Amino acid sequence: MRLMWTPSDDEDIPDQYHAALPDGRWHDGVQDPDTAGIAEAAQETVQAVLWQVWPVCREHRSGVHAGAGADERAVWWCRVDEGHELCEVGELAQTLPGKQRRALRRKERRRAG
Ligand SMILES: [Zn+2]
Repeated sequence: MRLMWTPSDDEDIPDQYHAALPDGRWHDGVQDPDTAGIAEAAQETVQAVLWQVWPVCREHRSGVHAGAGADERAVWWCRVDEGHELCEVGELAQTLPGKQRRALRRKERRRAG
């Protein structure tokens, strides 16, 4: 996904940041482009444009939510049972099973040329 920035031409309205899909579609935006804010914007876009719950806790098969971890890191949080941290925002690939993770790495290497 890509980070997009929409500057506001009205000084009463703050600039907006969006997380856009590779085809450029996005939904909603945040005013605070910190990690958790962008993670939420990305989640909004996937849910509103693709009608998919993302990201998902594989263990509980439930959608997770961006929030602050114990030490103020931005994390994906699963709310099932007592709740647990899925991973740090940006580290979702780590939670994939080995085969999918290796496929993703191959794809990234190809893209890097
Ligand atoms: Zn879970």
